[in-house]
Amino acid sequence: MTGQSGIRGFGDFRWEAVEHRRYKKDGSAPFRDISRQVLFEEPALGCELRYFEMAPGGYSTLERHQHMHGVMVFRGHGHCLLGTEVRAVKPFDLVTIPAWTWHQFRATNGEAFGFLCLVNRDRDRPQLPTEAEMLALRGIAAVAAFLDGNVG
Ligand code: MN
Repeated sequence: MTGQSGIRGFGDFRWEAVEHRRYKKDGSAPFRDISRQVLFEEPALGCELRYFEMAPGGYSTLERHQHMHGVMVFRGHGHCLLGTEVRAVKPFDLVTIPAWTWHQFRATNGEAFGFLCLVNRDRDRPQLPTEAEMLALRGIAAVAAFLDGNVG
Protein backbone atom coordinates (compact mmCIF):
# COMPACT_ATOMS: atom_id res chain seq x y z
CA MET A 1 0.00 0.00 0.00
CA THR A 2 3.02 2.31 0.41
CA GLY A 3 2.94 5.20 -2.02
CA GLN A 4 -0.56 4.39 -3.17
CA SER A 5 -3.61 6.50 -2.77
CA GLY A 6 -6.66 4.69 -1.61
CA ILE A 7 -9.61 4.39 0.66
CA ARG A 8 -9.61 1.43 3.01
CA GLY A 9 -12.87 0.70 4.72
CA PHE A 10 -13.17 -0.19 8.41
CA GLY A 11 -15.18 -3.01 9.94
CA ASP A 12 -14.91 -5.14 13.07
CA PHE A 13 -11.74 -3.27 14.10
CA ARG A 14 -9.90 -4.17 10.94
CA TRP A 15 -9.15 -2.19 7.82
CA GLU A 16 -9.28 -3.36 4.21
CA ALA A 17 -5.90 -4.35 2.76
CA VAL A 18 -4.14 -3.91 6.11
CA GLU A 19 -2.22 -6.91 7.38
CA HIS A 20 -3.41 -8.12 10.78
CA ARG A 21 -0.57 -9.59 12.82
CA ARG A 22 -1.51 -11.40 16.00
CA TYR A 23 1.04 -12.29 18.66
CA LYS A 24 0.37 -14.98 21.23
CA LYS A 25 1.97 -15.55 24.56
CA ASP A 26 4.79 -18.01 24.04
CA GLY A 27 6.11 -18.20 27.60
CA SER A 28 9.10 -15.94 27.04
CA ALA A 29 7.41 -13.00 25.35
CA PRO A 30 6.93 -9.88 27.48
CA PHE A 31 3.53 -9.28 25.88
CA ARG A 32 0.32 -11.28 25.69
CA ASP A 33 -2.52 -11.64 23.17
CA ILE A 34 -1.85 -8.49 21.21
CA SER A 35 -2.31 -7.77 17.53
CA ARG A 36 -0.89 -5.03 15.33
CA GLN A 37 -2.14 -3.34 12.20
CA VAL A 38 -0.01 -0.67 10.51
CA LEU A 39 -2.47 1.85 9.08
CA PHE A 40 -0.07 4.40 7.60
CA GLU A 41 3.61 3.88 6.87
CA GLU A 42 4.26 6.32 4.06
CA PRO A 43 7.95 7.37 4.02
CA ALA A 44 6.97 10.93 3.12
CA LEU A 45 4.99 11.23 6.34
CA GLY A 46 8.00 10.43 8.53
CA CYS A 47 5.76 8.65 11.01
CA GLU A 48 3.57 5.58 11.26
CA LEU A 49 0.07 5.17 12.61
CA ARG A 50 -0.56 1.76 14.08
CA TYR A 51 -3.47 0.05 15.78
CA PHE A 52 -2.73 -2.36 18.60
CA GLU A 53 -5.40 -4.48 20.18
CA MET A 54 -5.29 -6.80 23.16
CA ALA A 55 -7.66 -9.66 23.90
CA PRO A 56 -9.17 -9.60 27.41
CA GLY A 57 -6.31 -10.02 29.89
CA GLY A 58 -3.71 -9.18 27.24
CA TYR A 59 -1.02 -6.58 27.58
CA SER A 60 1.62 -4.74 25.61
CA THR A 61 5.34 -4.88 26.37
CA LEU A 62 6.55 -2.89 29.37
CA GLU A 63 9.25 -0.80 27.72
CA ARG A 64 10.88 2.57 27.27
CA HIS A 65 12.86 4.17 24.46
CA GLN A 66 14.11 7.44 23.02
CA HIS A 67 11.27 7.82 20.52
CA MET A 68 7.95 9.05 21.78
CA HIS A 69 4.39 7.87 21.19
CA GLY A 70 1.11 9.63 20.72
CA VAL A 71 -1.69 7.24 21.70
CA MET A 72 -5.45 7.45 21.40
CA VAL A 73 -7.52 4.74 23.04
CA PHE A 74 -9.85 3.42 20.36
CA ARG A 75 -11.65 0.37 21.72
CA GLY A 76 -12.68 -0.78 25.17
CA HIS A 77 -11.59 0.16 28.65
CA GLY A 78 -8.24 -0.73 30.14
CA HIS A 79 -5.35 0.56 32.18
CA CYS A 80 -2.17 2.33 31.26
CA LEU A 81 1.14 2.63 33.08
CA LEU A 82 2.95 5.86 32.23
CA GLY A 83 6.15 6.42 34.19
CA THR A 84 5.01 5.56 37.70
CA GLU A 85 1.37 6.52 37.16
CA VAL A 86 -1.41 3.97 36.60
CA ARG A 87 -4.60 5.25 35.02
CA ALA A 88 -7.85 3.76 33.83
CA VAL A 89 -8.36 4.77 30.20
CA LYS A 90 -11.24 4.62 27.72
CA PRO A 91 -12.06 5.67 24.18
CA PHE A 92 -10.91 8.38 23.12
CA ASP A 93 -8.47 9.32 25.84
CA LEU A 94 -5.09 10.60 24.72
CA VAL A 95 -1.81 9.35 26.18
CA THR A 96 1.42 11.20 25.35
CA ILE A 97 4.42 9.03 26.12
CA PRO A 98 7.66 11.05 26.34
CA ALA A 99 11.15 9.71 25.66
CA TRP A 100 12.53 7.20 28.18
CA THR A 101 9.25 6.80 30.03
CA TRP A 102 8.10 3.32 31.05
CA HIS A 103 4.78 2.41 29.48
CA GLN A 104 2.46 -0.54 29.23
CA PHE A 105 -1.20 -1.06 28.32
CA ARG A 106 -3.39 -3.77 29.80
CA ALA A 107 -6.83 -5.06 28.83
CA THR A 108 -8.15 -5.12 32.39
CA ASN A 109 -11.89 -4.90 31.79
CA GLY A 110 -12.70 -8.35 30.42
CA GLU A 111 -13.02 -6.98 26.90
CA ALA A 112 -10.87 -6.22 23.87
CA PHE A 113 -8.83 -3.09 24.36
CA GLY A 114 -7.22 -1.22 21.48
CA PHE A 115 -5.37 1.98 20.80
CA LEU A 116 -4.00 3.97 17.90
CA CYS A 117 -0.30 4.74 18.21
CA LEU A 118 1.55 7.46 16.33
CA VAL A 119 5.29 6.85 16.19
CA ASN A 120 8.37 8.05 14.32
CA ARG A 121 9.26 5.96 11.31
CA ASP A 122 12.91 5.93 12.42
CA ARG A 123 13.08 4.77 16.00
CA ASP A 124 15.43 3.15 18.49
CA ARG A 125 14.96 -0.31 19.94
CA PRO A 126 12.85 -0.45 23.10
CA GLN A 127 14.54 -1.24 26.41
CA LEU A 128 12.98 -3.70 28.82
CA PRO A 129 13.32 -3.12 32.57
CA THR A 130 16.27 -4.73 34.33
CA GLU A 131 15.62 -6.73 37.49
CA ALA A 132 16.60 -3.69 39.57
CA GLU A 133 14.33 -1.40 37.58
CA MET A 134 11.47 -3.87 37.91
CA LEU A 135 12.01 -4.00 41.68
CA ALA A 136 11.91 -0.21 41.84
CA LEU A 137 8.68 -0.13 39.83
CA ARG A 138 7.17 -2.80 42.07
CA GLY A 139 8.04 -0.66 45.07
CA ILE A 140 5.10 1.52 44.08
CA ALA A 141 1.95 -0.23 45.27
CA ALA A 142 -0.28 0.90 42.40
CA VAL A 143 2.32 -0.15 39.84
CA ALA A 144 2.79 -3.57 41.48
CA ALA A 145 -0.98 -4.14 41.39
CA PHE A 146 -1.06 -3.11 37.74
CA LEU A 147 1.81 -5.45 36.81
CA ASP A 148 0.06 -8.30 38.62
CA GLY A 149 -3.16 -7.63 36.74
CA ASN A 150 -4.97 -6.63 39.91
CA VAL A 151 -6.65 -3.50 38.61
CA GLY A 152 -9.92 -2.96 36.85
MN1 MN B 1 6.67 1.85 23.09
